Amino acid sequence: KVTVVGSLSIDLVVRAAKRPVAGETIIGEDLSLFPGGKGANQAVAAARLGATVTMVGCVGDDSYGEMIIKNLEKENVNTSLVKRFTKKTSGTAHITVAEGDNSIIVVKGTNDLVDESLIEEARAEIASSDIVMAQYEIPLPIIDYLAKVCEEEGTSFLLNPAPAADIQTETLKRITYLTPNENENKLIFPNKTSDEAIADFPGNLLVTLGGKGVRFQTDTIQTVPAFKVAVTDTTGAGDTFNGAFAVAIAEGKDIETAVLFGNAAAALSVQKLGAQSGMPDREAVKEMLTQ
Ligand code: ADP
Repeated sequence: KVTVVGSLSIDLVVRAAKRPVAGETIIGEDLSLFPGGKGANQAVAAARLGATVTMVGCVGDDSYGEMIIKNLEKENVNTSLVKRFTKKTSGTAHITVAEGDNSIIVVKGTNDLVDESLIEEARAEIASSDIVMAQYEIPLPIIDYLAKVCEEEGTSFLLNPAPAADIQTETLKRITYLTPNENENKLIFPNKTSDEAIADFPGNLLVTLGGKGVRFQTDTIQTVPAFKVAVTDTTGAGDTFNGAFAVAIAEGKDIETAVLFGNAAAALSVQKLGAQSGMPDREAVKEMLTQ
């Protein structure tokens, strides 16, 4: 059983021949809406792989909120702890794709309303979970609070510290699995090489290295290489890795096996466009692992 505390949003993607300069209006080609947010993405990644998943977070009392909840239900994610608020709009990402590049404005909206009382409401769910996972698209003090609640309830806590931000020392000690990418790792441990950071970390520090794989420590520090695949779109690779890794850990697998499982799922996801749309099911991962 996996519980995800994190962000939910709708990505609004406009394609246009060029992007407007200040004061300019241009006509775009089309608009696509995709459910996203790192929290929701990781919940969907875990649910596709067969885990029992509960999402904890906030959406607006608007049509995007409706879409976000419907999508999670379609993916078999429990939404009883997704709260709806009228105070703000649902989280959105406004993405312009023009001249081969993305420009993005993120509006946090209701993701900023995740608070201690919601974590308390989720306490029983946290206590009965094999693992709780979180990311950095909700208020940072809530991550600190959540880490404390996980410790009190004796539940493993996985933090994917993305997008990059610094972590309180007290919270670092309460993390069972920390999964930064290379840039995030440098920001959290500016004075250490990644191997020094991995060796010194009180819990398990797993640094994801994109197409190179994942570096972590068991008896020794090692890298489990990524699967060699033809890349279409790396959006959601980290989210897929984290969701899959958490599922394997929740099932009692050792870290090395869980990393391999995560790498296989993420390698499948980068072969397809989009974040959630590229996430594999259990069968596909099994097949990848026996190749
Ligand atoms: P993020 O997307 O959060 O920046 P990474 O780029 O480190 O994270 O990717 C996370 C994981 O996704 C990697 O550890 C690897 O398992 C997988 N992955 C990413 N890029 C590739 C790739 N080009 N080929 C195969 N697997 C990849």
